[in-house]
Amino acid sequence: MTGVAVLGATGSVGRSTLAVIRRHRKRFRVVAMSARRSVGALERLAAEFGTGDIAVADAAALADRPDLSSAGWRSGPAGVAELGRLPGVDVVVNAVAGAAGLPPTLAALESGKRCALANKESLVAAGELVLAAARRGGGELVPVDSEHSAILQCMAGSRPDEVHRLVLTASGGPFREASAEAMERADAATALRHPTWEMGAKITIDSATLANKALEVIEAHFLYGLPYERIDVVVHPTSIVHSFVEFVDGSVISQMGVPNMELPVLHALTWPRRPPDPVLRNFDPVALSPLVFEPVDETRFPLFRLGVNAGRAGGAAPAVFNAANEVAVDSFLKGEVTFTGMAEVVAATLEVLDGRTASDLREVLRVDGAARRRASAEVKRIRA
Ligand code: MG
Repeated sequence: MTGVAVLGATGSVGRSTLAVIRRHRKRFRVVAMSARRSVGALERLAAEFGTGDIAVADAAALADRPDLSSAGWRSGPAGVAELGRLPGVDVVVNAVAGAAGLPPTLAALESGKRCALANKESLVAAGELVLAAARRGGGELVPVDSEHSAILQCMAGSRPDEVHRLVLTASGGPFREASAEAMERADAATALRHPTWEMGAKITIDSATLANKALEVIEAHFLYGLPYERIDVVVHPTSIVHSFVEFVDGSVISQMGVPNMELPVLHALTWPRRPPDPVLRNFDPVALSPLVFEPVDETRFPLFRLGVNAGRAGGAAPAVFNAANEVAVDSFLKGEVTFTGMAEVVAATLEVLDGRTASDLREVLRVDGAARRRASAEVKRIRA
């Protein structure tokens, strides 16, 4: 029996994880779970899965429930991270949204657990620290992100020096074919209509701006240790090919499947083995034809280039990009900046905080805070 902690249990990846575990009850036991503030949903899920260790990230959500606090429910970011260290936990599924996912990633890896990582922001904001935590504690980082799960599967059995290049696929999002003028006018409802994947609001907006793909390039750089010039991105509108690996001999291996997050979740839980799952076995190449690939249009999607350049710059730049982007997305969802205004906010923040370092967690958190304040000021300036 594998003990699983599901962090972000009520979000999109959290729900996919629980759906997978419902079908594999003999293999997995949900020993811990957390959510940002959905206390009622957590209570129901804890009863269903017989889960004893529970945390709510937003402590205020427990204010009127002293019964739960006295029943041992944890609260606050530290309470969530603590779940990743529990002795009965073998795998921590980190599906927390945003940079808030960093402390639980570090806690899981430092305690020698497998961290099934859906929180790519951990690696973007503090890639070196996350890798160091894994080395120190003997933890293991396994991606839940579909592209990175694909790469892991394509690389199986090969040696690092045999890998020449990674090619991540991007759906292109809802504005793949939109004019620059239409994108300027785009509202949140349109941007939230993702063509192939059903996900939370933050990542859906990131997919519409292609900021998500920049975050994924940085994620791939840290997960697989390849330099940025050997990580490429191609637009693939139907999201059937989840990524490619090109080897030094010219062979290219891809991993495919109908877009469904349950597949990479199951793989992150069971890697390197594959348990039978009839629900996910539904591949029909004829129905899924044709497979189309296009270049990324960096002019219409400036957040993509800004993010990749931040990755290349290194130091604190990826953390600044990530924090500014989180503020920009939040402001767009609230109607405070336009769709194209998000890139302005991020570009201005990167410029002001250029050259910062982030060599320990305190520094990362300080840079993250400074970038958030700067980006918020930028939002106000644009609105005025
Ligand atoms: Mg992805």
